[in-house]
Amino acid sequence: MNAARVRVVSQAPLHADRDYVLYWSVGARRTRANPALDVALRHCRELGKGLVVLDALRVDHPWASRRFHTFIMEGMADVHARYAAAGAVHHGWIEPLPGQGRGLLSALAARACVVVTDDTPTFFLRRMVEAAARKLEVRLEAVDGCGLVPLSSPTREYLRAVDFRRALPTLLDGEGPAADPLDGVRLPPVRLPADVERRWPATPVDPRGLPISQLAPVPLRGGEASALGALAQFLDRIEGYEERRRHPDDDGSSGLSPWLHFGHLSPWTVLDGLRSVAPGPTQPFGVSKSAAAFLDELVTWRELSFHTAHIRPGYDQYSSLPKWARTTLADHECDPREAIYDLDTLAAAATADPVWNAAQRQLMVEGRIHNTLRMLWGKRVLAWTKTAPEAFSRLVELNNRFAIDGRDPNSWSGIAWCFGRYDRPWPSRPVFGAVRTMTSNSTSRKVRMNSYIKRWTP
Ligand SMILES: Cc1cc2nc3c(=O)[nH]c(=O)nc-3n(C[C@H](O)[C@H](O)[C@H](O)COP(=O)(O)OP(=O)(O)OC[C@H]3O[C@@H](n4cnc5c(N)ncnc54)[C@H](O)[C@@H]3O)c2cc1C
Repeated sequence: MNAARVRVVSQAPLHADRDYVLYWSVGARRTRANPALDVALRHCRELGKGLVVLDALRVDHPWASRRFHTFIMEGMADVHARYAAAGAVHHGWIEPLPGQGRGLLSALAARACVVVTDDTPTFFLRRMVEAAARKLEVRLEAVDGCGLVPLSSPTREYLRAVDFRRALPTLLDGEGPAADPLDGVRLPPVRLPADVERRWPATPVDPRGLPISQLAPVPLRGGEASALGALAQFLDRIEGYEERRRHPDDDGSSGLSPWLHFGHLSPWTVLDGLRSVAPGPTQPFGVSKSAAAFLDELVTWRELSFHTAHIRPGYDQYSSLPKWARTTLADHECDPREAIYDLDTLAAAATADPVWNAAQRQLMVEGRIHNTLRMLWGKRVLAWTKTAPEAFSRLVELNNRFAIDGRDPNSWSGIAWCFGRYDRPWPSRPVFGAVRTMTSNSTSRKVRMNSYIKRWTP
């Protein structure tokens, strides 16, 4: 384990005389290739203690819905069985009403030698961990399991993917986490504290009864098992990815982003799979051309997003966009728009653009949009909104409300890309100024999407 991945968030003492090691799983909700779990298990070995895993789900976080709860709860069921087989106690707890989870972490931490958690740079997760650290009277370590490049590795911000890609060989972590750290492990027995059993029992919960948005679940199952199944299917069709991925009709991308987002699937597991089925000469990973094209998305683009979120304060705000982009968009604020749509019209896929509506419908039903159309989807909202900052916040709302992979560093970087982040100035156009434009007509000419549009048009 690269020590740079471990951040001591609370310097309170480690209490070797207490009952167990506590792993507070908040980002990497998986048992395989998980650096935080490696650290927790190392503490267990060194202290001769068992492991308690707290996997709690609040009802009051922004955009909480039955769609996301269902996916996360399916993931909890998978890890529960695997932890139990290793002798660990996995406490999967769903908060029934806002505020009822208050005190649960402290109650578990009061009997813990040390608390280990995931270091996740986005959404409310890091703030939540920092707030917990101020209260706990036990050492709290946050472990970065986000990707192959440790979050702390680049000491400067990368403003273009090309520079991050070039620097990758020097930034990549040589060591990965254990592929399956629970394999063959038998931990010392451990019990939950009685007050936790009594006040926060892990009883089955139906998300239909929770005070959250009742947005319907997506036709995918959450959890490690489904993630590994989807990965295996994708590995079978990896060759030709770089061409097939462009065309909505071919649907040639991996579809792995939901499981990556919820931490059900580790990027190291994906890399191992690619190396075994598609070895080749392309560096730095030693894989085939198609596998390298895929890793360019998974590592260069995904981890660039994580690094921006980690290093740039306000990465999720319009004000964090490059100055040239904000200036040119402001200069064109008074340009006439082809149409102006409000948030409800957009959310209902009721614009006059059939391509955009198709993408929005796929988002509503499946919780995803084909990547090519996701870029178009974002750019069009900029064309149809009075001001660029307003368009930015509408896209954040639509993406994070509906997308199963939303509320991710990639959410904000994908949206920000539509407004010029990681890009350069282009010849000036109405409304967009020097920000790159995309139109439905030009996209229709370049990619195959007739079947896609038919499928997503009522
Ligand atoms: C407006 C907009 C919003 C977006 N919102 C999200 C989001 O909420 N969550 C999300 O995960 N991605 C988002 N993206 C990035 C990208 O569209 C998705 O990651 C990709 O379509 C997911 O499908 P896939 O897993 O089949 O991708 P694949 O092509 O199979 O790629 C593999 C993995 O690489 C990463 N990746 C692929 N493309 C990108 C990219 N452009 N930027 C960063 N990482 C990438 C993802 O983790 C993806 O799962 C957004 C892009 C745009 C333009």
